[in-house]
Amino acid sequence: MIGIIFGPPGSGKGTQAARLEKDLGIHHLSTGDILRGEVAKGTPLGKEVGRIMAAGDLVPDGLIVDVVRSRLPDAEQGVGALLDGFPRTVAQARALDSMLSDEGHRVNFIVALDVPEELLVDRLLHRAQVEGRTDDTREVIAERMREYHKLTEAVLDHYRKQGVRIHEVDGTGSPDEVFDRIHAAISGISSR
Ligand code: ADP
Repeated sequence: MIGIIFGPPGSGKGTQAARLEKDLGIHHLSTGDILRGEVAKGTPLGKEVGRIMAAGDLVPDGLIVDVVRSRLPDAEQGVGALLDGFPRTVAQARALDSMLSDEGHRVNFIVALDVPEELLVDRLLHRAQVEGRTDDTREVIAERMREYHKLTEAVLDHYRKQGVRIHEVDGTGSPDEVFDRIHAAISGISSR
């Protein structure tokens, strides 16, 4: 099973994906976490992407597609993989589709978190104080939102056209409330 947790920066993808991993046993694969790990370790990849991430821009498609290609086979084992932060462009979505179709797989479901933009900015500024992520400043947040609207939103249309089930979920409220909504939206999915 391949799922995507989708939504703008600050919509709670990582928080909810971690819960879904616990609940469904689906493997959470976060490209943001992977890249931050590479930056922290100072690997060649980390050195290449650090400055791009700090500016709130997207790293090149080819680079992130290679990262996912190397991690997906492990993540797909067992229940399957829940992708968080990928695909973020239509080109990445096409690359994912062809990776999956090589093995007779496809994207089975998408959970799209819906949160008003003012609330997203508040949450990200709050996270800056708690976690100290360097890309959670007002200016960088604005750039990440622009990238989201310019490049990432179209990914949803790409999958809508393919007839993939898109579960739009209200992402406002507490993490527990959002999780309950997701749970209700996708209940029974693992037996489908
Ligand atoms: P958020 O969803 O809050 O912006 P992420 O942790 O998903 O945070 O991503 C942080 C940064 O990592 C992005 O702003 C971008 O620079 C980089 N990144 C993560 N995933 C991708 C991707 N699929 N394509 C390009 N860049 C990515």
